[in-house]
Amino acid sequence: MKTRSTTHLITVLAALLLGSGVAVAQSCCVKAKAQGKSCEHACCKQAHGERKTCQKCQAEPGCCDKAIAAGKDCSHPCCAEAAKEKKVCAKCNPKKEDKKKS
Ligand SMILES: [Zn+2]
Ligand SMILES: [Zn+2]
Ligand SMILES: [Zn+2]
Ligand SMILES: [Zn+2]
Repeated sequence: MKTRSTTHLITVLAALLLGSGVAVAQSCCVKAKAQGKSCEHACCKQAHGERKTCQKCQAEPGCCDKAIAAGKDCSHPCCAEAAKEKKVCAKCNPKKEDKKKS
């Protein structure tokens, strides 16, 4: 039936959206750093040149964002541990849920 398949499609789309939302919360710079790279964004490069966090990509900078901006490694043991595994610390870079659903 038409209605039934539409409902199913919405369920699938919702699941996809929820799944992709997880990665977005961790900033581009933190993710690049975890891979041993520097963020390629022009906005981030400029901000880092001024030892600042990127306002565009890091509206709420975490400990790692600030460390990257200062040209350092984050001093948190949990972050250092995650970095060893080329991961982003989930404790300090939690996945944010989109609460702006009006
Ligand atoms: Zn970046
Ligand atoms: Zn940026
Ligand atoms: Zn950190
Ligand atoms: Zn951490």
